[in-house]
Amino acid sequence: MFVGVDLGGTKIAYALIDHKQGRVLARRVTPTDSADGPDAVLMRMVGDIRQVVADAGVALSDIRGIGCGVPGVYDDATGHTLFLPNLVGTWHQVPVGPTLTAALGIPVWLINDARAFVLAEAAYGAGRGHANVVGFTIGTGIGGGVVINQQLYMGIDGTAGEFGHQTLALDGPQCGCGNYGCLEAFASGSAMVAQANVLIESGQAPDLARRIAHGMQLTPSVMVSCSDIAVHQLLAQAYQYLGAGVANVVSLFSPNVVVLGGSVAQLGEPLCAAVRQVVIERCRATPVARIAIVTAALGGDAGVLGAAVWAAHRSGAEDVRALT
Ligand SMILES: [Zn+2]
Repeated sequence: MFVGVDLGGTKIAYALIDHKQGRVLARRVTPTDSADGPDAVLMRMVGDIRQVVADAGVALSDIRGIGCGVPGVYDDATGHTLFLPNLVGTWHQVPVGPTLTAALGIPVWLINDARAFVLAEAAYGAGRGHANVVGFTIGTGIGGGVVINQQLYMGIDGTAGEFGHQTLALDGPQCGCGNYGCLEAFASGSAMVAQANVLIESGQAPDLARRIAHGMQLTPSVMVSCSDIAVHQLLAQAYQYLGAGVANVVSLFSPNVVVLGGSVAQLGEPLCAAVRQVVIERCRATPVARIAIVTAALGGDAGVLGAAVWAAHRSGAEDVRALT
């Protein structure tokens, strides 16, 4: 049995899986409250891991490993986080793995949260049963991951799959990473919202402006539902960039399945259809008719399940059975 933990900027999710039976035995979600500092958060994590194991009626000694998804960069050899931009203090050199292991006596493996999402979707979700799966998480930023022959391809320290930081325009807008013209700077949820704000300020989006004035939060789905032509042109352009980003990854890996997840992917089939069309137009040397481009199947569960599967893989567990 394995515990998955998904450490997020606002909440922490826990799940205990029985990998042999393919069952989730217990779950738990708590606020992160990262303003309390890493020591306090880690102490709460220890308590919550004990609790989720107790909720399932399982002994701690039966847990073979813990996978912990983190929203950023970490050192695989030491189990320290290096940079978690969405947590207060950014968690530079926080010994997440060693602290949990010392308190619980269980090995801990860290994984980037986008990689955990793709691993879960490949094992249990939209990519289930396929050998090669790539995934995009499209939310505030854009992340991703690569599963080859049902194994996560990690690159150095788990950094393979940063699809949001592929350069799509040599002189494009600056990205949060410092580079110019990254996919993320064109087509992440926050990029779409920033572009919509410019339209509102210049008077080109009166319907959207009215909705925001009535207290609606400016999100891509509110943008989709408004009647402003300029906003729909903006969305169409963002879909073109997303499609180009997916097309580049399809050309590289020729996967069986491309899974689109994250809050922006909840726009669903219109976004998927637009991306598919761009991939068909741009990938002339890849058999794109045999590549499924689909939205994620596991919803908010993907991160925590992927972290548990990661622990199973790293501990050498033979058979990780599909969830029933
Ligand atoms: Zn970037």
